Amino acid sequence: MTEQLEPMPVDWRRALAVVAHPDDLEYGCAAAVAVWTDDGREVGYLLATRGEAGIDTLEPEKCAPLREREQRASAAVVGVSQVEFLDYRDGVIEYGVELRRDITAAIRRCRPELVVTLNHRDTWGGVAWNTPDHRAVGRATLDAAADAGNRWIFPELAERGLEPWNGVRWVAVAGSATPTHAVDVTAGLERSVRSLLAHRTYIEVLTDQDPEEYCRAFLAGNAEVSGERFGGRPAVTFELFAR
Ligand SMILES: [Zn+2]
Repeated sequence: MTEQLEPMPVDWRRALAVVAHPDDLEYGCAAAVAVWTDDGREVGYLLATRGEAGIDTLEPEKCAPLREREQRASAAVVGVSQVEFLDYRDGVIEYGVELRRDITAAIRRCRPELVVTLNHRDTWGGVAWNTPDHRAVGRATLDAAADAGNRWIFPELAERGLEPWNGVRWVAVAGSATPTHAVDVTAGLERSVRSLLAHRTYIEVLTDQDPEEYCRAFLAGNAEVSGERFGGRPAVTFELFAR
């Protein structure tokens, strides 16, 4: 029998999810977010870009506000009202001190116990190469979870009133090829379909399939496969780093 995944910790109140693009959280993670917000937990989203380079037929300056709107609608479906955007340029985010500082500032504002991000590794497993934006944001988020607690790494943040927050206990990486934990998303799966569907413009360009069928097939299929390692229940998986 395949090795089973551990259930995600539940002794936390607030989470901040940090990703590069609109739709990064909707390709799976949103089902877990729905379960968490049902449970009375607060979840905020921080996006490094507005995903303005994501649609070939739409120029970035028209694409950005549209994708921002779709992201906010998509977050609302799973009970998330706090959605913040940093102004990085889609496709060319660089890992570095500036990115770490911006994410650190957001963590200090939100003061979460759990930070969520997307796969920071080179591949999705096998031969599927990851994108530079995901790698940069994922790595910077893992680093910023620690930076947030250190007064002296970015002293300018404390001067702006953002006091250190040393309360991040875990960083959960979604979309990892080597997951360790999972959430039973039976109750959140249908909302995650609607949440992904809220990225209507993007999805319609991406596939010739009926958008709803595409979203449901993708999310339910993945949840079922993940569930094989979680007692047969539909699941969303995470690789959990503890602090
Ligand atoms: Zn992305």
